[in-house]
Amino acid sequence: MKVAKFGGSSVSNATQIKKVLNIVNDDPDRKIIIVSAPGKRHKNDVKTTDLLIRLYEKVINQLDYQDKKREIIQRYADILEELHMESTLLETIDETLETIIKQLNDKHDRLYDALLSCGENFNAQLIAKYNDSQGIKTTYLSPKDAGILVTDLPQQAQILEDAYDKIYKLREIEGKIIIPGFFGVSKHNYVVTFPRGGSDITGAIIARGIKASLYENFTDVSGIFKANPNVIENPELIEEITYREMRELSYAGFSVFHDEALQPLYKHRIPVVIKNTNHPEDKGTFIRHDREVTDKNQIIGISCDKDFTVINIKKYLMNRQIGFTRRILEILENYHISFDHMPSGIDNISIIMRSNQIKNKENEVLSAIRKKCDIDELSIDHDLAILMIVGEGMTQSVGTANKITHALAESNINLKMINQGASEISMMFGISRENADKAVLSTYEYCYHGVCLKNLCPK
Ligand code: ASP
Repeated sequence: MKVAKFGGSSVSNATQIKKVLNIVNDDPDRKIIIVSAPGKRHKNDVKTTDLLIRLYEKVINQLDYQDKKREIIQRYADILEELHMESTLLETIDETLETIIKQLNDKHDRLYDALLSCGENFNAQLIAKYNDSQGIKTTYLSPKDAGILVTDLPQQAQILEDAYDKIYKLREIEGKIIIPGFFGVSKHNYVVTFPRGGSDITGAIIARGIKASLYENFTDVSGIFKANPNVIENPELIEEITYREMRELSYAGFSVFHDEALQPLYKHRIPVVIKNTNHPEDKGTFIRHDREVTDKNQIIGISCDKDFTVINIKKYLMNRQIGFTRRILEILENYHISFDHMPSGIDNISIIMRSNQIKNKENEVLSAIRKKCDIDELSIDHDLAILMIVGEGMTQSVGTANKITHALAESNINLKMINQGASEISMMFGISRENADKAVLSTYEYCYHGVCLKNLCPK
């Protein structure tokens, strides 16, 4: 039994929805289908989820929201018309939006989640009804009825372990099942969404719950590329990647598959394949527990994320101080800041975090460190990009760091820091943001084609 999830661009209009249903109906093992909200139909289009955010903003600012609501309803009206379906669903959509707004007007966090969930919820109902009308038994199931029981913190839903027993029972339902992605229901009966892009997480939860043989994640590309296609022209496609490698790459900017979606899968070793709705015949990229490492695929991918901040702290004889790091980390904890890396020397320590973690708190955090930690020097750098070189093959091979530093040096890129985790499957290089794309290009060309891009050096 397989679970197939279709992303926003795959369900953005009637033509795409027909492609999706051809794929679904083509394979009897494709039993449970997770759908996103209608995504962009063209480059300048707006995702339905973003239209819902605009509606939310009008509502909380007590402005007239009818135009925003109509825009959302129109997205579904277009699809219904192109599919030659009755328009009765539109009244339900209108009523549902109005009811949510009325009931949750004074609970903004709850209102946000409830409105955002509508994008996938209406789409799942529409698609299930259409497939059923084509003579294929298809049932729409709300996340509540499917058993997606989650924690209660708005926008940060996490599945509760008890949920899986109920989800397993979905196996008994006859025909195809269509479930909206992106949200669950808490014990207090609130709709709670996963983070943005979270339909991948719903698919993973259902795949784990029903003990699927495969989780197929359909999108608008034929798999995962070895580097960002917006930076590298026609990058090579990855055929197989491990959960651990995928986690490292998605951390640093690979957005094809949500990093939180790996969690329900890896313990139970449920394989994932990333496939293209527009070219379902393409093999796609498999994400699984192990892969074969060869000379050619030791480094599986290169990613770079540009949005990091680093706090640099110096203290003479820091290595002999007891509790120094703990005091710093306690300050971060008090300000609810999570950090990502902490490279250190004998007299200095750097704490790297996503820039949004420290936004609006910077002055307070820095003065708390000055006050409580008896430091010699303190500085903050907002201009940090992190280049990640990832590959299971690095554990067994010698010279990867040499290759990378050589490529970066040839391109005249200054290294601000280097860090390698204990797992040895990734290497992190801190560079300045303006060098991010150049760093991906030079390391990609050198690692995969042996070409050193000297001509990239600025004069
Ligand atoms: N519709 C949601 C978003 O745009 C979730 C998803 O598509 O996965 O983030």
